[in-house]
Amino acid sequence: MDFTIPQHIADDVDRFRRFLKESFAGKLAAWLRAGELQREFFAELGQGGWYGTVFAGDRLRRGPALREAMIAEEFAKVSPGAAVAALAHADLGLMGLALFGSASLQERYGAKSVQGETVMCLGNTERQAGSDVAAVALRAEQAAGGWVLSGAKAYVTNGAAADLAVVTAVTDPAAARNSRHSMFLVDLSAAGIRRTRLNKPVWIPSDLTRIEFERVFVGADHLLGERGRGLPQVLSVFTHSRVPIAALSLGTAAGAFELAVNRAARRSVFGRPIAEFQAKAFEMAELHARIEAARLMVWRTCAAMDAGEDFRAPASMAKFLAVDAARTTAAWAADLFGAASVVRDHPIHKYPLDAWAASLGEGTQDIQKLVIFRELMKRFA
Ligand SMILES: Cc1cc2nc3c(=O)[nH]c(=O)nc-3n(C[C@H](O)[C@H](O)[C@H](O)COP(=O)(O)OP(=O)(O)OC[C@H]3O[C@@H](n4cnc5c(N)ncnc54)[C@H](O)[C@@H]3O)c2cc1C
Repeated sequence: MDFTIPQHIADDVDRFRRFLKESFAGKLAAWLRAGELQREFFAELGQGGWYGTVFAGDRLRRGPALREAMIAEEFAKVSPGAAVAALAHADLGLMGLALFGSASLQERYGAKSVQGETVMCLGNTERQAGSDVAAVALRAEQAAGGWVLSGAKAYVTNGAAADLAVVTAVTDPAAARNSRHSMFLVDLSAAGIRRTRLNKPVWIPSDLTRIEFERVFVGADHLLGERGRGLPQVLSVFTHSRVPIAALSLGTAAGAFELAVNRAARRSVFGRPIAEFQAKAFEMAELHARIEAARLMVWRTCAAMDAGEDFRAPASMAKFLAVDAARTTAAWAADLFGAASVVRDHPIHKYPLDAWAASLGEGTQDIQKLVIFRELMKRFA
């Protein structure tokens, strides 16, 4: 077993840290204040090659999972909200196109999406269909030359910013529960689309948007993958994106932890630094161990992914442990800052809220446990 990080990945992560500090932090501060991202956000990440996917030889190709995870962690340490906008583009929208897009769709949209000039998102969740993905009811009816989509997607990250959405819809209502759906690539400038940005206190400055489809025409060539395979396809996208969101959760934990440890070393109460009270020292030791354990699970999952092994159970374990570490650490860290933590503009304020949001994307903690349990029973039952 080799735990060495390949040098080219370590160098890239260093480069990304410098990029965040030198060319990104100032702009990010403005976007955080505005609560909104500008298009240049996506383009700058694309120009830097930070989406983990390249367009080469006429198709989209995923880079090493470890590189992407380490970059997601670094990004989320600074801003989980900006990191999730990049993730929704690269690991939900672009992932759907990379895994299931035809050669012509990849050729048409691939290069611009990798460069961040075309922004993507994925709309699956509906009011009655969150954890229960098969309950998706948005309807796609066959029409001359394509499909007509009617219904609504309730919560879509990047739904306001995006140009293209990967969307699940019912194409075969009479078929069995897991073969009723298909997946489409939808141009969000099409007639009949209405977008409503939701007001949320988490993952600022990314947008969370409701998208309504009123008889929206989608060409037959914009079907992703196979008709009737929409459910397994979207679950496969989620299994893949669970790894970067686990890394993002890890970054949420690590970012909050670094701020709080620094604070504990500097802030004196009762005549000595907070860190010198053994109660706090033990809490720090425990959280550090939990974060390290979650990081090992994330990296172990990346290794399985890159080796082409089945990574369903590791991905869910990684997300479960990383979200758990993020929730516990972020609440602890905010507490350590005392009253300052409730001030919206204080750097620590966002972490508990963002850790809470992290449990929802790509399946709640309960859903991760379901996946882990199912995989466990395959092995032992
Ligand atoms: C900030 C944010 C960004 C999001 N971005 C996107 C996006 O880009 N695209 C998209 O499609 N969706 C997105 N979502 C939606 C997200 O995927 C869903 O919120 C999530 O899947 C949970 O679904 P739900 O909200 O309907 O909760 P529900 O499914 O109703 O779950 C409610 C509760 O029941 C529990 N539960 C559910 N099923 C079980 C079970 N079988 N056993 C035990 N407990 C169970 C859950 O764990 C949870 O505690 C986003 C959500 C948020 C908050």
